[in-house]
Amino acid sequence: MLPNKTKSRTYRRVKVKISKGVTTHYKKRKPAKAKCAGCGKQLAGVPRERPIKMQNMPKTAKRPERPYGGFLCTVCSRKKIVAEVRK
Ligand SMILES: [Zn+2]
Repeated sequence: MLPNKTKSRTYRRVKVKISKGVTTHYKKRKPAKAKCAGCGKQLAGVPRERPIKMQNMPKTAKRPERPYGGFLCTVCSRKKIVAEVRK
């Protein structure tokens, strides 16, 4: 038996339907959401998955395909691009 999985909250509990009814599966938790490097806002279009799943995912699915995609939010990237053009 694995008491760590069943008693602690390190693993998340997922209810799974089986032929006999419902059972609980214990899965590892997902990492925190990606944040903007400028303002700290949560980034859209960046999946919240465990590293092995991110490795097998195509690069285009991991971040928005624009300059500073997956690093800065839209507001911060717009400001940065405007600042670069003006200097
Ligand atoms: Zn930002």
